[in-house]
Amino acid sequence: MENVKLNIQRLRDEIPEGVELVAVSKFHPAEMIEAAYEVGQRLFGESRVQELLQKIPVLPADIKWHFIGHLQTNKVKQIIGKVALIESVDSEKLLNLIDAESRKAGVVTRVLMQVHVAKEETKFGFSPEELLEYFKARKFEALTNTHICGVMGMASNTDDEERVRADFKAIADIYRTIATDESLGLRGFDQVSMGMSGDWPIAVEEGATIVRVGSTIFGSRGY
Ligand SMILES: *Cc1c(COP(=O)(O)O)cnc(C)c1O
Repeated sequence: MENVKLNIQRLRDEIPEGVELVAVSKFHPAEMIEAAYEVGQRLFGESRVQELLQKIPVLPADIKWHFIGHLQTNKVKQIIGKVALIESVDSEKLLNLIDAESRKAGVVTRVLMQVHVAKEETKFGFSPEELLEYFKARKFEALTNTHICGVMGMASNTDDEERVRADFKAIADIYRTIATDESLGLRGFDQVSMGMSGDWPIAVEEGATIVRVGSTIFGSRGY
């Protein structure tokens, strides 16, 4: 637990002002989250609905949760109103369902659109072309209870730093193309979530506003 505290404090010293740190606590017990909470961490990321729903009631109410994993459509309803941000919207079908469930619940849900650029890695998410097409077709205008706040992405899982940097550049690029297109009239489309334990410094150099760090804080996950 002391390690968790030290790791959080060290990271906070390293991550520049203005970049949010999501402490990715998936597969780690509530006690470890409490240790991070004790040194001031309030933002945590989880990737499985069941695990998130088990943790929320046993932890302080002022924790903000980001959902970062693949969200199955049949589980959307369970997390609406409970998370500050769904970072992993990977299909139009999921987005429309989040909107419908948010409307029923009378809440506005904040989301990020997941972009996949690391070809062999993630099967989930929009390609940059698909994402651009979604916005160009102005489909977002049909959403009543969902606020698209930006994009989320991952780099290839490789030691090749140049490849990782190129992936982050591609994510930041598609973000900027959409964010700077005034004809879209987007409001509050200003978040780029990218970078994990092994590559967050490169992500920050390439324009990340949110980094998602798990093992550097909590140690390796036993799965
Ligand atoms: C698990 C996970 C992370 C954190 O990974 P680490 O390498 O442990 O920092 C970040 N983002 C997503 C989407 C994840 O699933």
